[in-house]
Amino acid sequence: MNIIKVKHIHFKKGSVDFELACDFDNRKVSPKLAKLILDYVPSIGEQICVNDKSEYFKDEIVGTELAHLVEHLLIEIQGSVYKNHVFKGHTSWADEIANTKAHGYTLMTTNVDYLESKIVVHALKEAIYIVTSIYNGKSLRPFSDIINDLQDLSKFN
Ligand SMILES: [Zn+2]
Repeated sequence: MNIIKVKHIHFKKGSVDFELACDFDNRKVSPKLAKLILDYVPSIGEQICVNDKSEYFKDEIVGTELAHLVEHLLIEIQGSVYKNHVFKGHTSWADEIANTKAHGYTLMTTNVDYLESKIVVHALKEAIYIVTSIYNGKSLRPFSDIINDLQDLSKFN
């Protein structure tokens, strides 16, 4: 089951907005999904997450919106592809929950920094692959393989 759909991509100077529709019944990260994500890529838990109740993403991941998880995956993937660059992101509501609930989804905008448009778009594809594979109980390739492929793509001009 595909629980995340990309509705719109809008490139700005230095950052990109991804409008993400997330399946309403799966819009929040369950404790099980959180554990499997943290097992798959432990370093994501150590990311700073500016929030009123926590400092690190690991304290925030359970119960957060799926689009917020995608944001942190995009930061993790890009931060691993480009070793000496720190990426930032931000996720906000693109529409009120009452407007989209009847259609079975929530709509949020995830904004992240990027250096190369081709890499951030592939990173989005990989982030969705990671979340949906884990959600569907499918095995997925090692995180380091994803990073290696994107580093090759970055060199290929
Ligand atoms: Zn965060």
